[in-house]
Amino acid sequence: MTYDNRTLVWGELKAEPGQFVTGMVKVAELSHRGPVLMPVLIVNGAKPGPRLWLNGAVHGDELNGPMAIRNLLPALEPEKLSGAIIATPISNPLAFQARQKNTPQDSLDLDMQFPGDPNGTLSQRLAHLLFERIKEMATHLIDCHTLGTHFQALPYTVFKRIPAASSEISDQAERMARAFGATAHCRVDLGGSLNELPGNVSGFLDVQCQIHGIPAFMAELGWGGVLQPEIVSFSERGFLAVLHDLEMWPEAPDPAPYTAPRTITRRRFLYTDHGGLCIDGAAPGTVVRAGERVCRIVDMFGTVQEIIADEDMYIIASRQNPPVDTGDRVAFVGLAWEQEEDIDE
Ligand SMILES: [Zn+2]
Repeated sequence: MTYDNRTLVWGELKAEPGQFVTGMVKVAELSHRGPVLMPVLIVNGAKPGPRLWLNGAVHGDELNGPMAIRNLLPALEPEKLSGAIIATPISNPLAFQARQKNTPQDSLDLDMQFPGDPNGTLSQRLAHLLFERIKEMATHLIDCHTLGTHFQALPYTVFKRIPAASSEISDQAERMARAFGATAHCRVDLGGSLNELPGNVSGFLDVQCQIHGIPAFMAELGWGGVLQPEIVSFSERGFLAVLHDLEMWPEAPDPAPYTAPRTITRRRFLYTDHGGLCIDGAAPGTVVRAGERVCRIVDMFGTVQEIIADEDMYIIASRQNPPVDTGDRVAFVGLAWEQEEDIDE
């Protein structure tokens, strides 16, 4: 594939080849007529190459990815970069402002609205505005997420295989996710079972990117509502590793801290049948064998439910905020996986 070397323009923002620019772009207006502004950072490399889009805070309480983006980009010399990095670290500024996952104005999950609607609600318009720019500028994309605030997890990546995307695009997405170097990679086959992911799966940014020929994956970077310095630096390293793998950046970063990641091919949530406090949860990154306990639900008088694995489970995420009601999620687990050494490249 050949790439042109060109000036990137977004509203008032203009990045010539060899320039790093930052600025705010207007994405909406509030009732008092004040603008809603979104921060944009562009490193336009001196040499031609792929254009990697880094997106963050599509869910407003997810902070580790945005911090990694704002730390890394100013440190990259444009003279050494082939291609460009376009970053929207706070892609849902209204949810970010509200310290919550969804957009307060329409209560929608922005990551279920892509490719968006220019005549819809605020989230749908924001998705449209973003996605038009992504289609125009990006050749690759990383969407930075975290788990919800009630969970804890080691960093992992998710790549989706979608019937509507070419296998070449899916393969590139998977390669990027592996290059990122997390503890586990979840391969989600959207041609098969959809029931592990609630909601409008076709509206996910990474799904729409792949349908439009842009290899993309999700990085799940810790959990929401907090900044986790070790996960922020892990994420900076991950971005660099993808840049190097795409031949955009000359130097390889230090090896990933996780040496034998798993590729998880089937996942599900575990739920509690009772209210109480969820305690003694198995740690993320560990395997719970069939018949062993994943966690238990207790009340003020004793144990009300032992959550027992009915098959072997890899703990992707576990509950860290104990109070639960009937039907609350207590863990997110992998049910089938391959260890990296077993995979024939
Ligand atoms: Zn998210």
